Amino acid sequence: MSLPPRVLVPAAIDATPPALGGRIHEFVGETMGTTWRVHLVAAPTLRRVPVRLAIQSVLDAVVAQMSTWDPGSDLARFNRAAAGSWHALPEHFHAVLACAREVAEQSGGAFDPTAGALVDAWGFGPAPRQGVPDAATLSHARRTAGWRHLDIDPERRVLRQPGGLALDLSAIAKGFGVDLVARRLQALGIVHHLVEVGGELRGAGVKPGGRPWWVQLEQPDGDDSGERTLLALHGLSVATSGDYRRWFEHDGARYSHTIDPRDGRPIRHGLAAVTVIHADCMRADAWSTALTVLGPDAGAALADRLGLAARLLVRDGEGFVERRSAAFDALLE
Ligand code: AMP
Ligand code: MG
Repeated sequence: MSLPPRVLVPAAIDATPPALGGRIHEFVGETMGTTWRVHLVAAPTLRRVPVRLAIQSVLDAVVAQMSTWDPGSDLARFNRAAAGSWHALPEHFHAVLACAREVAEQSGGAFDPTAGALVDAWGFGPAPRQGVPDAATLSHARRTAGWRHLDIDPERRVLRQPGGLALDLSAIAKGFGVDLVARRLQALGIVHHLVEVGGELRGAGVKPGGRPWWVQLEQPDGDDSGERTLLALHGLSVATSGDYRRWFEHDGARYSHTIDPRDGRPIRHGLAAVTVIHADCMRADAWSTALTVLGPDAGAALADRLGLAARLLVRDGEGFVERRSAAFDALLE
């Protein structure tokens, strides 16, 4: 059965519509182990090659600085560096790490940009490992991780490697990449656009004719309730974290790629998907992961306390129960 969609609309769609004759151009590519997609409004005569190169180079810069998978990235070199060494942080890396630390603090460590060793221990990082780690591996990873070990000198923009600290910015970098592409398009004078990297989205302006960029909120596998939620992405971003995105099964148990740094184990509550709507995609991305770790009750409570627009889908038997924050409800038309 297919129900009419629920509709989420930000306060006012006040963009000047695109000039007459503009049409939607679509670009696609690959980055961060996933795909990117950009829709933008421009004249039919738009020179496409420079635009596609501009988008790809912005995303390549994020990978070159913050990838855990590229051994040559600034982040990977930091992770391997000797104890006591100091490392210059490129501008974007510094901005993302500063935001990550803020979310770590506000979430009581549920979100942790230093969870790299834990992510590796559970086989979700670049280290060749699979399955449940033994106790020694796990306790070693827990000892090295911890956002409080982050020693950033903001004046000189340098970061100290205390020894074995492994950064992982995978829960925030995609969203940041989306923001950066959107900023680049804006700088090129392309004010009507929809940017997506691996499911995280940001929209600005409107389509030809003045209609907003409608996007459908991500549904977990198996959610066939038929209820869809559409969001008018106008000056807004949306990101979703889900236990269905990456996981493995062992002895009948399911292990998700989202780790609770507070006990060093994949999350075990029944939260299937968390969607956060925010002006910045970087923050939407980080918070969707943070609330996922916190779980249905603490996650919903913190979203309300911080005024975050969040939707949490909790597994319930064969189906899902939805929890919405007040700020999310305020967007419902
Ligand atoms: P996302 O899909 O944005 O929720 O990001 C998930 C990825 O973030 C995982 O694959 C890990 O690399 C990393 N990660 C896992 N747990 C955490 C955590 N508690 N805090 C920050 N990053 C995490
Ligand atoms: Mg995230």
